[in-house]
Amino acid sequence: MSGVVIIGAGHGGSQLAISLRDEGYDGAITLIDAEGELPYHKPPLSKTFLKQSDARPMPLRPASAYDDREIERIAGRASHVDIVGRKVALESGQRLSYEHMVLATGSRNRSFAAWPKASNVFSLRSLADAYALRAAMMETRRVVIVGGGFIGLELAASLRSTGRDVVVLEAADRVLKRVAAAEISAAVEAVLEEMNVEILSNTQIINVDCREGRVIGIETNRGRVTSDLVVVGIGADAEVRLAHSPSLATDNGILVDPALRTTSPGVWAIGDVANVMSRENGTRLRIESVQNATDQARHVARCIATSRVEPYQSIPWFWSDIGPAKLQIAGLSSGSTERIVRDEPGRLAVYHLRGADLVAVETINNPAEHVLARRLLAASAKPTAEQIRQGPQVLRMLID
Ligand code: FAD
Repeated sequence: MSGVVIIGAGHGGSQLAISLRDEGYDGAITLIDAEGELPYHKPPLSKTFLKQSDARPMPLRPASAYDDREIERIAGRASHVDIVGRKVALESGQRLSYEHMVLATGSRNRSFAAWPKASNVFSLRSLADAYALRAAMMETRRVVIVGGGFIGLELAASLRSTGRDVVVLEAADRVLKRVAAAEISAAVEAVLEEMNVEILSNTQIINVDCREGRVIGIETNRGRVTSDLVVVGIGADAEVRLAHSPSLATDNGILVDPALRTTSPGVWAIGDVANVMSRENGTRLRIESVQNATDQARHVARCIATSRVEPYQSIPWFWSDIGPAKLQIAGLSSGSTERIVRDEPGRLAVYHLRGADLVAVETINNPAEHVLARRLLAASAKPTAEQIRQGPQVLRMLID
């Protein structure tokens, strides 16, 4: 039986390969990479990449980092997994045996199934998507972005800064509603409006006007919006297609236990695709962020290399750059019962409490406070609302 086979060479898969060797694992490591690129940073695709016509992908690490660690990289797509025989089949026909298999297949953008096929409708997930969008942008004056989530808003700011007219259609009454406090949404909307991005919230799409294979207009409950190019950014689903062939348990991702093991022995899942059971209360959580993918990768590498299986524990954190607004989130705000807002010139901090517990902190243009928040959360500090209002100096005293 040979080594570890990792399916997906994004942020999680590539980190896992490197960490396995760094943890002392001496078996074979194979990284299967559907994109066929040297693993690269995804976040710049919606931020800097589109602004420069000659920007190249930013590799996560040089090719030598994999070669020096004797990590075999195979360009190709895994098409089938045989759990009983512990084998992975690739579309090329190649078959690989494994002792451990790690699914790091990421997520897949949602799309509007009922929309007609059109050559000027894009979404952004991979480098190939980014190249296609950048090429199409050259001919474009007016872009409509459907969806006011992180990626949609980052794109709105990037495209606006290249001189395009940009309209964002958001179904909810504010952008980022699913992921951020109302004060954060308001601050981000203000930044975008300052850039002359038009944000149409409470907007439902009624019909899409497609002529000669191009969407030229979108009918909404707020009127018609014309477009040269449309980007759909309405969220993503876990990329679980491969998990269906071996019948791994899935439900909004591949179900894993608190140590990130799937329901089949020797099979693990990490990153966007993993729906993790909390060891405290049995609830499940699937997170889409770079930190989540890389920290889970380091955890699984340690478990495999040391043969010691322990629960994964990490304070989640996330960032998003929307034009000049650097948004950072530490912790998880779901179920919070109170929020305390400190709005200072040019920066913002929103603290979420659940009862007496601090559960999350969202900041804008406030990196020092974000770092402090991560330390407070890691220490399970219990600041009072009054201490939070008094600011970082007082909060620091709780942990220093
Ligand atoms: P990915 O990095 O997506 O890698 C999965 C890989 O698996 C892909 O390369 C895919 O092609 C491959 N794959 C899938 N199926 C197969 C198969 N059958 N065989 C072989 N390979 C396969 N997060 C942040 O924290 N901050 C940000 O600012 C931020 N910005 C983002 C901007 C964009 C445009 C995008 C798309 C994402 C952004 N994210 C950001 C999210 C972050 O990139 C993801 O959460 C992270 O990449 C997840 O890592 P992963 O390893 O789980 O999946």
